[in-house]
Amino acid sequence: MNINLKKLTKDLAGIIGGEQVYTDRPTAMAYAKDTMPWDVESHNIPYAVVRPVNSREISRILQYANKYNIPVHIHGSGTSLVGLGRPKVNCIVLDTAKMQKFQAFPERGYFEVEPGMHIGKLRKKLTAFNALLPVFPGSELIATIGGSISVNTSAHAVDATICKPGDYVLGMEVVLPTGEILNIGTESTRKPAGIEATKFLVGSEGLLCVISKIRMRLIPLPFTRNIVAYYKQSEDIIDTVMAMYKKGVPTPMFFEYLDEKASKVGFEAVGLSPPSGAVAMITVSSSTDTGCEAKADIFLDFIKNNNPVEAEIVTNQKKWDKIWSSRAEAGNYVYRLGSTFGSEITVRVDKLKDAFIEAKNIILNLDSYKGNEFYSFGHIGAPTIHAYAFIPSKDLTDDVKKAVTMEVRRRTEALNIKYGGCGGEWGLTAQRASFLKEKYGQNYYDFLVSLKKTFDPNDILNRGNLEGLI
Ligand SMILES: Cc1cc2nc3c(=O)[nH]c(=O)nc-3n(C[C@H](O)[C@H](O)[C@H](O)COP(=O)(O)OP(=O)(O)OC[C@H]3O[C@@H](n4cnc5c(N)ncnc54)[C@H](O)[C@@H]3O)c2cc1C
Repeated sequence: MNINLKKLTKDLAGIIGGEQVYTDRPTAMAYAKDTMPWDVESHNIPYAVVRPVNSREISRILQYANKYNIPVHIHGSGTSLVGLGRPKVNCIVLDTAKMQKFQAFPERGYFEVEPGMHIGKLRKKLTAFNALLPVFPGSELIATIGGSISVNTSAHAVDATICKPGDYVLGMEVVLPTGEILNIGTESTRKPAGIEATKFLVGSEGLLCVISKIRMRLIPLPFTRNIVAYYKQSEDIIDTVMAMYKKGVPTPMFFEYLDEKASKVGFEAVGLSPPSGAVAMITVSSSTDTGCEAKADIFLDFIKNNNPVEAEIVTNQKKWDKIWSSRAEAGNYVYRLGSTFGSEITVRVDKLKDAFIEAKNIILNLDSYKGNEFYSFGHIGAPTIHAYAFIPSKDLTDDVKKAVTMEVRRRTEALNIKYGGCGGEWGLTAQRASFLKEKYGQNYYDFLVSLKKTFDPNDILNRGNLEGLI
């Protein structure tokens, strides 16, 4: 596409003001990059970056983009782990960073927030209202609430306890790809029944709308208790999770794990002596302190009956903070010291162990690279297995990085298909588009393409993600 950059800059400045429009090369390069390990390619580099401050400005940008057939990529913080974060074609990047207004209405039982606020910042604001934000990604210091709602991820939380953030979304303001501004949902604390737009626009991955305001229920902050359990091996933790669901034990809020290798690096990184096997970290919650205490005792009993080496309720907050942060540090280790290729395996819970064993085998026997290591950690109680291929070098060619990424993705997704799962965190387009097609069939994929066309006749928003471009 031939773009007259001078005219584009002038036009965009006319729409939202020159100080909100960036067409310099360094800014464009920064927005072309995401968390993927390979370099930016020319098709990723945007013509311009705009930072609108409200839905009216978004609307005008989208009307302009439709008029001149210029794609628009929506940027939260670009931390997606399946390649949603970088533009797939030269485009205008619409960054939501300047949209951060927040207002709580305790008398109405909800708060409203604009999409650009970072999750960690929003959590702090809600704490002042004694309220819980049901979104817990490891990236919470940088990921935006808009990005999370647009992929509908609760991240670390156990779905059976916390559900998905969309379950707490009462209403939204959205801008359709053609520029119409819609207010959907309700101002009541009761979600609408029946056919209702928030249900399919939450989680629409920036394909069907730009989310410009989110109204979410104020959830009273629960009391919590924390349990650490040490196991000989990861498989024993997985047996425990499977028993938890089979026996109908009330699920905790968090049930994280570090495998044998990840626990060693994670514990060492936070100054704790490394355990000899795998570690589970569990947080139970309840609306009363005594209820929570009782729940923790019951859960500890359950754990102790399921083959741990050792398990305890951790009452010392400082000690717990260290144990909990070992989980993030294990992630930092693999991200920082080499090249990491992750997967998200979220299968039928009775097949969790089979999937784990097969995932390990897949990762240790890749065709695209020999000699990588296997690490695994994540939200096993959710249940999600993150199986990582770790190559202790950053010095790989982009071709190798892409080949390993796509092989890990394809072969671990085959487990999601084989064992009835889908993944529950990272979204279903970009690198996952071919999985989406395989899992649900060509008819469903064609339906999504026609849905996208109905909302976005000129294919303006996030062009290339539904097609699986990288
Ligand atoms: C270290 C690290 C740890 C992570 N841990 C987790 C984890 O535990 N669990 C988890 O689920 N994810 C995790 N992630 C992935 C990522 O942080 C989340 O998916 C996050 O929700 C994405 O937020 P973002 O603001 O970066 O969105 P982006 O990556 O910028 O965008 C994600 C998608 O949403 C679209 N989008 C963004 N804003 C809007 C909007 N306002 N309206 C419409 N569409 C929009 C984008 O176009 C894109 O398609 C992690 C990432 C990193 C780097």
